[in-house]
Amino acid sequence: MESSGWSEMDEWGPEKILQVYDPDTGMKGVLVIDNTSTGPGKGGIRFAESVTLTEVFKLARTMTWKCASAGLPFGGAKGGILANPGKVNQVEWIKSFAKMIKPYCPSQYIAATDVGTTELDMAVFAHEIGDMRACTGKPQELGGIPHELGTTGYGVSVALRTTIDFLKDIKRKGLDISKPLLALTNTLDKKRNDFKIVIQGFGNVGSFTAKFLNDLNIKVIGVSDVSGFVFDDNGLDIPKLMSDMKDKSKLSDLPVDNHNHQNHSYNILDKDEIFNVDSDIFIPAALTGVINDKTAPKLLEHNVKIIVEGANIPTTPTADQYLVDNNILIIPDFLANSGGVIGSFVEYQGRTEKEAFDLIEYKITNNVKRALYNSLSLTDQKDDTSEFNVRKVAMETAKQIVYRAMLLRKGAISVAREAYARKERVIY
Ligand code: NAD
Repeated sequence: MESSGWSEMDEWGPEKILQVYDPDTGMKGVLVIDNTSTGPGKGGIRFAESVTLTEVFKLARTMTWKCASAGLPFGGAKGGILANPGKVNQVEWIKSFAKMIKPYCPSQYIAATDVGTTELDMAVFAHEIGDMRACTGKPQELGGIPHELGTTGYGVSVALRTTIDFLKDIKRKGLDISKPLLALTNTLDKKRNDFKIVIQGFGNVGSFTAKFLNDLNIKVIGVSDVSGFVFDDNGLDIPKLMSDMKDKSKLSDLPVDNHNHQNHSYNILDKDEIFNVDSDIFIPAALTGVINDKTAPKLLEHNVKIIVEGANIPTTPTADQYLVDNNILIIPDFLANSGGVIGSFVEYQGRTEKEAFDLIEYKITNNVKRALYNSLSLTDQKDDTSEFNVRKVAMETAKQIVYRAMLLRKGAISVAREAYARKERVIY
């Protein structure tokens, strides 16, 4: 891990960087509390060999924008434990991490699951802290709403449905829109189940996104994971795929179609073939930085029109600009994948699973719709080169919410109200 986090400091944070090491267990970890002006920092604990301070900081910052965008009384934070969880005593390491950061939980940090951690780790973590409010994503037996119920994937499906409805709506209303946006609405002016969607990642987020899109009658033609890419241009049978995967850990364990007309076999390609098939909508739900200078042109070449970011920070800044310049509509991670943290808020309040799913639907529909209409109003529809940049617009909104909360924290209520009233600074 890099030795210092000073280089990451800016006007938003991070407020605390805690690097911890337990010589008794060998556990090495880091906690970044980015900004707590809107509430205690919320963010999962990533348990992986590849964890770096910079990565944890970037994920914590994403949480700052995500919680602000979702209008939750949480700030941004993230935890990281540096090891392959399969190669160490996971329970001991989680306990050790909890012990080290205990003074900050839950007053300044509320944990959750992330890559490499599960509801079981949350049970251990909460007990070690001695406070059930120290984390969310706990098992149902502890009053939890585990991420394993698919709250994030549900939110991603809601974000996509809202985007499709927006495009249909502006077409139906016959609004005076720029040529690129008109072209986008024309291309997507199909029935919902005619869209071709591919999803990269078939873990928690990817598999539940596929399931909930299938429930909406939206066709998924391909899903990939670390082992391969399952593809059927006519649409995958998602319920069947999910049940076939129950006793398997990776897609390549599925029976392969070797043209002998065997029942229930799958066409499995190399995982990176996901970038080489034609689709309308691409959903990254695996790693950071997968949409980059190398892969972004491939998405364009294969007719992708919309990207909905299920994963955190899947698009590099240069690829993002390239895609926006080429009129690809991107729904950013901090809007699209906020289902998990919205569900966490409901758990934190001691409410039910049903309430979690209802609130996710309500908030993500409204937030995505607001970001799309704000982007529409900020784009010069008479200038075909004027960019339609949802990330930029939604980020500005999130920054204004945090900015105002920071002013309020300073006790500057009149300045905060004045900032709120200034339309050029606060977009609503
Ligand atoms: P997960 O570990 O359950 O699943 C990750 C999936 O990605 C697995 O199927 C894995 O095989 C696949 N994968 C790994 N490398 C790949 C590659 N090179 N190509 C294709 N697939 C690959 O993780 P998750 O919880 O589903 O999280 C996925 C992403 O979503 C992460 O970026 C995470 O930070 C983000 N996220 C998760 C949640 C949540 O509630 N779980 C919430 C918000 C954001």
